[in-house]
Amino acid sequence: MLGESATEILDRERRRGPAGHGHGDVVTIGVAVFGGILILNSYLAEKLFSRTVDPFAVLLSALLGSLILALPILWSAIKDLVRGKIYMNELVALALLAAFANGEYRTAGAVAFFMLVTITLERRTAIGAEAAIEAVVRLTPRQARRVVEGREESVDAFDELSLGDLCRVRPGENFPADGRIVSGTTAVNQASITGESLPVDKTAEDEVYAGTQNLTGLVDFRVTRIGTDTTLGKVRSLIADAEQSRLPIMRMIDRYVGYYTPTVLMIAALVWFFTRDINRVIAVLVMSCPCALVLATPSAVIAAIAASSRLGILIKDVSLLEIAARIRAVVFDKTGTLTEGNLEVARLQPAEGVDLAELLLVATTTEYHSNHPAAEAMKRLAREAGIQWQDPEEYSEVAGKGVRATFGGRRCLVGRESWLREEGLDTSSMAATFGEQDTTGISIVFVAREGRVLGWIGLRDAVRAVSAEAVRQLRELGVRQCCMVTGDNEAVAREVGAKIGVTEIRAGCLPEEKAAYVQALRESGILVAVVGDGVNDAPALAAGDIGIAMGAIGSDVAVQSASVALMNNDLRRIPFFIGLARRARLLMNQNLAMGLAFIILGLYFSTIGIVTPVVAAILHSTSSLFVIFNSARLVRSGEGLQVPEAR
Ligand code: ADP
Ligand code: MG
Repeated sequence: MLGESATEILDRERRRGPAGHGHGDVVTIGVAVFGGILILNSYLAEKLFSRTVDPFAVLLSALLGSLILALPILWSAIKDLVRGKIYMNELVALALLAAFANGEYRTAGAVAFFMLVTITLERRTAIGAEAAIEAVVRLTPRQARRVVEGREESVDAFDELSLGDLCRVRPGENFPADGRIVSGTTAVNQASITGESLPVDKTAEDEVYAGTQNLTGLVDFRVTRIGTDTTLGKVRSLIADAEQSRLPIMRMIDRYVGYYTPTVLMIAALVWFFTRDINRVIAVLVMSCPCALVLATPSAVIAAIAASSRLGILIKDVSLLEIAARIRAVVFDKTGTLTEGNLEVARLQPAEGVDLAELLLVATTTEYHSNHPAAEAMKRLAREAGIQWQDPEEYSEVAGKGVRATFGGRRCLVGRESWLREEGLDTSSMAATFGEQDTTGISIVFVAREGRVLGWIGLRDAVRAVSAEAVRQLRELGVRQCCMVTGDNEAVAREVGAKIGVTEIRAGCLPEEKAAYVQALRESGILVAVVGDGVNDAPALAAGDIGIAMGAIGSDVAVQSASVALMNNDLRRIPFFIGLARRARLLMNQNLAMGLAFIILGLYFSTIGIVTPVVAAILHSTSSLFVIFNSARLVRSGEGLQVPEAR
């Protein structure tokens, strides 16, 4: 009775392509209406025209109507039995058979009618809850426009496109694969992946992603990933995996579900034995059908996944919802997480006898292979200054400390001061120059060659506009500790920390020290979330109860080392996620409590004969729909957040 799982949707879509759905629902509604009219007809005929109408016609109308209504339910019960699934269909089917056996056709018809209507409504709303997932599936167009020798040809985006192909995308179309722009400039709406609808400007060399929408310009791009390897493909499989995973409470229900049906059957047998009243037995069977209970957790979980993935928050396992709801401390990395991570060179201080260009040349050549924000900043400045750096002969990176390279036969180091000192370099004379320039809020990186310090480079980073707001929201949610850990120096850390309002600061940390800090927090008995960029924060991310990787779009590392991938850089998604997890937990508890209450009270009143089978069917429908709509409220949460951050 549940809606399809994401995996089923994926399979179906793959087979069929983006055609319409809901065919089955139309048939079910048709059956329900037609059968319902026959049953109603039989009731009315007997009540209003009992003297004029042939009793046989009344009976025939009831019989036909109940058969039409009951067959779909009997059929799915048989299917479930064959597949070995003991669920609610069997109980209802048994109730219907009991009614038929006693010639209670109208009762059977009315019960089946309410069941069918409930099933259809459930399925429709389940589809609504999964709309986010299904929408993702449809975003990648089936057809791609490949450019071969200047001519365009239409090919299948899944089967015929291959890596390295050149594709053309017109304004208004979605990208059929991941790739790199070769020519043209445009603005792209990446909301389908990042959950942020602010257009992103793209030009040659920029990455584009399958399923995102090309808004303004005609672009040609070179395909780098296709089909399920694309970023969107990974998003889909993450959602599908999350949906397949189970909460502890769901596992517990699974364990007891096997006992449920036999227990109900025994109760029904006892009721029959003591009362010999078939109507009570039917009411018991209908009332105990555990639709509401079975739907209680999955409907809330699916709604939560739909709401979070729409905002670019991808969860690898639904049990994280349970943990997220109880997070008491959040540890943030500084660079690239609380700050923009777009470093800029603010100061250059060469040593005696070294000129600026030489300092920059050595630094950029040493950093040639590094993606660290410091490296990017140096290369940007060198490019502007027209300095041609080279490819070094040897290269290695020491996470959280710096890089080492050999070129022209000489060994060079670029990194933090403490690391250069460890390496036996004397940094004291250069460190003495800090006072000569204004270095507040500036991170310093030292450059050395063949045992001599050539100077230092000062880098500046901007604090993200939303960091302070995110921390404030977290504290409002009762997250008592918001800590910042960084490999950067104490002075910079203090300045950033003060702007954002974090409760604790750890500066000068190596990646292992960050992880150890997280571990220590956890040992103090609280659940800890770690937020980082995932590049050299992997150990810390893995050490947290939850690891949240920021800006995960286009970065595979981040998605691997984290349990939650945030496809954008909006830190306010974290308090939102914690709030969502708490609401999901609340809804699940409400649903379970309500479902249980309905069954227990319903069983009691059915047993003592107050609840008739038809009323039982109506009550049962009410409880299922309560659960479905209660959970569906969650789907819409966070819709307002999709609006990009206020500028
Ligand atoms: P954060 O904790 O702020 O993210 P990292 O762990 O990336 O910082 O790095 C810590 C420090 O190590 C940096 O402040 C910098 O001094 C130095 N460092 C790390 N990698 C590099 C590199 N590739 N080039 C220069 N300095 C580096
Ligand atoms: Mg970092």
